[in-house]
Parts: sequence; C-alpha cells; structure tokens
Amino acid sequence: MIYDVIVVGAGPGGAMCAWKCAERGMTVLLLDRAPSLPRYKPCGGGIPSSLVRHVEGLEPEKFTDLTVTKLRHTWRGKSPVLAEMTCSNGEPAQVWMVMRSKFDTYLVEKAQAAGATLKLGVKVSDVTVQSDGVTVTAGEESWTARYVVGADGAKGIVGARAGLRLGKRWGIAREVEIPFEYTESAGVLKDACYLDYGSVKNGYAWIFPKTGYLSVGAGMLVPRQPKAEQNVGKILMDAIHVMLGSVGMTYPEGIDAPKLWAHPIPFWTGIEPLATKDGRVLLVGDAAGVVQPLFGEGIQYAVRTGNIAAQHLAENTTESYTEAVKLELAGEFDAALRVGKVFHRTPYLSYKLGVKNPAGTKLVGRLMSGEVSLEHLEQRIYDKLKNPFK
Ligand SMILES: Cc1cc2nc3c(=O)[nH]c(=O)nc-3n(C[C@H](O)[C@H](O)[C@H](O)COP(=O)(O)OP(=O)(O)OC[C@H]3O[C@@H](n4cnc5c(N)ncnc54)[C@H](O)[C@@H]3O)c2cc1C
Repeated sequence: MIYDVIVVGAGPGGAMCAWKCAERGMTVLLLDRAPSLPRYKPCGGGIPSSLVRHVEGLEPEKFTDLTVTKLRHTWRGKSPVLAEMTCSNGEPAQVWMVMRSKFDTYLVEKAQAAGATLKLGVKVSDVTVQSDGVTVTAGEESWTARYVVGADGAKGIVGARAGLRLGKRWGIAREVEIPFEYTESAGVLKDACYLDYGSVKNGYAWIFPKTGYLSVGAGMLVPRQPKAEQNVGKILMDAIHVMLGSVGMTYPEGIDAPKLWAHPIPFWTGIEPLATKDGRVLLVGDAAGVVQPLFGEGIQYAVRTGNIAAQHLAENTTESYTEAVKLELAGEFDAALRVGKVFHRTPYLSYKLGVKNPAGTKLVGRLMSGEVSLEHLEQRIYDKLKNPFK
C-alpha cells in the first residue's frame, strides 16, 4: 500500500499532523519507536492556553492535569515574588500543566479516531526519496508514501537523511519528577509555576506542579561552550538544588539525579528550509527546531507546525510549507531571541525591573492567553528600559 503520508514520531508534532491529515481524508501511517503508549517523556509540560486560538478541536479538559494562573519568581533562590497572570478583562490567564504521557496519548488517539494507522516499536533507520514517493525503513520492514513528515524530535533521523536542519544549535536541560503532596504547610502551590533566575547563565530553573508530582528542572538555552557539558550538568544540578531550597525543600533521597537532555534551538536565519525542494519530506516540532528561544518552550510550536504541515499536505502545497512556518513564527521567535539577548546580558537588572515587577507577570499572562504577542512584550521591555520609573 502507498500511503498519502507517513509520519515518523508520535509526539505532539507528529500526532497532531497525523490527526489533521487523517481528518482531511488522507491515508496516514504514524510510526513511533516507543513499544507502547502511554510513554514517559521528560518535560515541564507547560502549555499556554493560547494554543486553542491556533488549533481547532482541542479539548483541554481531557488532557490538562492542573491549571496554573500564578508565577512565583526568585533570584538565586531569594527575594521571592508571587504574582497573578491576568487577561485584560481581569480574569486569570491560564497555563495548562500536562503529563506528557497523557497529552501525547490524547493526540495519538485523536489521530487514530480520524483514521490514521499507528505502529509502535518501529525505530526508523532510513528514509529514501524517489521521484514519485518516499520510502521509510525500519530494520527489515519498509513503507512508502507520497510524503514523509519528520516529527522524530531533537535528534531526528528523517531530517538528517533528507539533508535538512544540519546545523542545529543546542540548549541543555535536566529534569526530574518528584512525588509531592500539596498540604497547607507545603511550600508549593498547585496553581503556580516557580521560576528561579541567576543560578544558570542564559537559562533558568523551574518547578511545574502536577497532581502528586513536581516537575523540577533547569535549562541553559544558549550553552557557551558545548564541550563543557559536564560542567553544564553540574551548573544545572546546583540550580535545581537552589530552586528546591527556595520552597524549603531538599533533593529527596532515593531519587536518581535527573539526566541531561539536549534540546534544539532555532536560528531563524531566514534561509533554513524545513522541507526538501521537491516538498516530499517535511519537518515539524523539535525536528524542525521550532523551540521558542526565550523560554525553551516547544510543545505548542510542535502542535502548530504539525497543524500547518497537515494543511499543506492536504492541499499539495508542501513547497510553500517553510514559508508558511516562517510567516507564522519568525516574528515571535526573532522577538524572543532579541529579548533573550537583553535579559541574558543584564540578568539582574532585567529581573529587578521586569520580572519582579507584578506588571511584568500580568503582561506574561496576556501573552499566555494570546492577547498580546512576543513582539508586543519586546516593545514594552524597551519602553521600560528607556524609562525605568514610568
Ligand atoms: C527537560 C525539558 C523540559 C521541557 N519543558 C517544556 C515545557 O514545559 N513546555 C514546553 O512547551 N516545552 C518543553 N520542553 C520542550 C518539549 O518537550 C519539546 O519541544 C516537545 O516534546 C517537542 O515535541 P515533538 O513532537 O516535536 O517531539 P518529541 O516529543 O520529542 O517526540 C518525538 C517522537 O519521535 C519518536 N522517535 C524519535 N526517533 C524515532 C525513530 N528513529 N523512529 C521512530 N520514532 C522515533 C520518539 O519516540 C518520540 O515519541 C521541554 C524539553 C525538555 C528537554
């Protein structure tokens, strides 16, 4: 059988693409190397509720574990400030906390319900493009389709085989799930994300609440010396200790130290293609490097690129997919890169004037609910820097 589309990788990018292609009547094969679902994926699992503005049919009540409406900021574990994220009508702005096992499975089931075929335990090892289609190989097995979508994450094989996204830039993160009971005396609220700055250059540490767990981690978005990975590992672990200390906790005994995860960060040079010239192979999500470079956030962009790819696949306009992604995301990502540069050059000043100021958190709330864009946030930061006392 020749499929219309083979999607490699059943994370948020691939599952969304498979769902929206199948919904449009295409024959879809969705492959993942995971032996079964649900599967664990290390991730903070924070998704801004603005995602509903970009994708039709999402049912947050079916995959959201907790909903966060507050941010609590600290500088090197000290000087805490807790602030509400609000929409312009005064309602709380929401960030969904998801367990990736549940969220990713929800999207895969949507794809299956729309008619996509799922095959698990399939580790794709090769992709070959012919004039009339693309063949995907895993061990002794192979499948052919008119199009292939690489949704196989940060170290994806599809992009490498198709000659796409070869010059990746990496961020590095480590994260662990710590069992936790929310009591009145516990130092962590169920409806707040905890963010600590200053311990990691070009990054931050976090606690994201989940039912029965805290996702605790730290990430460096622009590692200065990629070779010094061991050192980066120690810096991130120290930042995790500081983050936990800021809520009166210590790293629990008996829980393994979190692993290091490399994470692609996009360049947005404006010249890097996300599809082959003939439009037969497309990349979405982490495989395409669509990770927002200020927060290191990638789930919503994986879902959004999966959705955009599906539209272009259904309309046979895959040659213009790269352009469409750039049109949708380049403005946001460029602004995030510029804001990141200012923040990382003057972290303490930025923390004092911007992050610690409750107006800053309000503004982030408007960003999370989709009322304002990252470009707007950038403009407000410049205005504040020009006139800090206004
Ligand atoms: C520690 C950490 C914390 C993070 N926290 C957040 C957060 O709070 N919010 C946020 O928005 N983003 C966060 N991110 C980023 C987010 O996890 C990614 O951007 C997101 O998972 C990208 O989704 P994806 O579908 O592109 O790829 P993935 O979720 O990585 O899915 C790729 C899939 O491809 C499969 N696969 C890979 N290779 C093959 C192969 N050869 N054959 C078959 N299948 C294959 C994998 O099994 C996997 O299921 C975090 C990242 C890290 C590392």
